[in-house]
Amino acid sequence: MAHLEVILGLVADGVHVRWSLERAELSAGACLGQLAMSIAGAPTIEVDESELTATDEIGSIPLAESLVDGRDGDLRVWAVERSTVGTVEVSYVARPVGAPQRPAVPPIDLRREGDGLSGACACFLVLPPAVENISFDLRWEPSAELDTDERWASVCSLGEGAGRDGGLAGADLELLSDTYVMCGDLAAGHYRDGDMSTWWLTPPAFGVEAFTAHLGKTYRLMAEQFEAPAHPYRVFLRASPHQGSAASAHPASFVMTVNPDGPVNERMLYSTVAHELVHEWLHLDGAADEVTWFNEGAADYYSLVIPFREGLIDQPTFLSEVNLAARIGYASPLRELTLDEASRLYDEDFRARRLAYVRGMFYLADLDARLRNASPDGLGSVTEVVTRVLRSQRAGEHIGIEEWCALVADLVSADERPALESFVFGGDGRPGPESFGPTFAMAEIALPVLDVGFDASTFVTRRATGVVAGGAAGRAGVQEGDVLRLPGYSEAVGLNVGDSLKVEISRDGEKIPVSISLRGGTAPVPQWH
Ligand SMILES: [Zn+2]
Repeated sequence: MAHLEVILGLVADGVHVRWSLERAELSAGACLGQLAMSIAGAPTIEVDESELTATDEIGSIPLAESLVDGRDGDLRVWAVERSTVGTVEVSYVARPVGAPQRPAVPPIDLRREGDGLSGACACFLVLPPAVENISFDLRWEPSAELDTDERWASVCSLGEGAGRDGGLAGADLELLSDTYVMCGDLAAGHYRDGDMSTWWLTPPAFGVEAFTAHLGKTYRLMAEQFEAPAHPYRVFLRASPHQGSAASAHPASFVMTVNPDGPVNERMLYSTVAHELVHEWLHLDGAADEVTWFNEGAADYYSLVIPFREGLIDQPTFLSEVNLAARIGYASPLRELTLDEASRLYDEDFRARRLAYVRGMFYLADLDARLRNASPDGLGSVTEVVTRVLRSQRAGEHIGIEEWCALVADLVSADERPALESFVFGGDGRPGPESFGPTFAMAEIALPVLDVGFDASTFVTRRATGVVAGGAAGRAGVQEGDVLRLPGYSEAVGLNVGDSLKVEISRDGEKIPVSISLRGGTAPVPQWH
């Protein structure tokens, strides 16, 4: 097995990256290392020509740099101009990205906060192309040129300091790429509750200790529910000038942005991480278009149901989250799309992506009621099926959508595939009145379809895009390109018939308040009380 050893060191202008690959044995023209130009919209580091150097047993290795088409966009490639002998060593300085952070881009680029740095390895490590059978070590070395005292620490997705305590199996370079790192004065910049810890370089403006303790408890309850020991899980907080949170999932860790000067929606941060925690255990095997509804729907379902059952979220909060999800799914202008049709709109409309989440969650709630009714003692539940899935997967079995349907069919004595097809994939199903029962009752009420006459992206970018002539926003005076102050999407979805969306237009230095009345169509939406 080949072994890659990566050593990171903090220097004045960034991170000094050194790695060595044993017995690389590259022939002339072979690729030594590569780095994508950007990842999910986040810029990777710039490496000036001749700045990256490589050596082997013979000495310095001449390199040729080029730009090639990669699977996900342009890739910078460094090729060796002669064959290599023995261990190859690479060295360069990764400088943090200085360009202003854009909203809604995952916070994974290498970025400086105070004296510290954070970022995903994929954004600053020039790595060898994927090879089979490779293990790696990643460690930080104390800085030789900077005065880092005992308050200085480094932490990454896989462990703290030099260690790998993340309990993650696998040794491929994808795992290394996905690893998130943070280093700096972290002595006061973290809080720990059992296996759960939160890390920051800029003090967040909310009660991060209570937040972490709440998450830690949630994490332990989920580990218990899903019959698996918890492993260390880290939440990285990164400062951002933007409202709302951008986030990114990494091995046994999660990074999200918070605005240190703005109001923080703690409830939203908690539910975002709780959703991610479910992903640590729960998934169906198979292609994304087959199983995303389950993986995301189950994360939404259990991140609400488990904390509510255990008293970690109160009843009004639970109900408002369930009812909001129902509005997002069943009052959406896209509500009639099949999941297949929705998947083609992913890039242009975030509401299309939500459909799989919402349908998955309500399918599970509906199935829970069906299983309760089908069991002689009334104790049947969807969790019974989920437990069987987890046990089978731990025994090495592949549990995809077919196996899921077979497990359910066993309990409800009917073919489950048509029910699933219609509810989730077709979008024709509705959660039955006993979903979330017997604690709660459901009624369908007519709610406005949030079709305000501009692109949904306007809620995120706050710049009016796709304003429809004669549409509600257009009639209220909103013009294409206007900078707007307006509620976030989930707030807007909460409006009822007769309400109006309050928007402030900034145009030529003037602020113009307008009110967009929701007089369009309505849709029947299940709501629980
Ligand atoms: Zn998710």
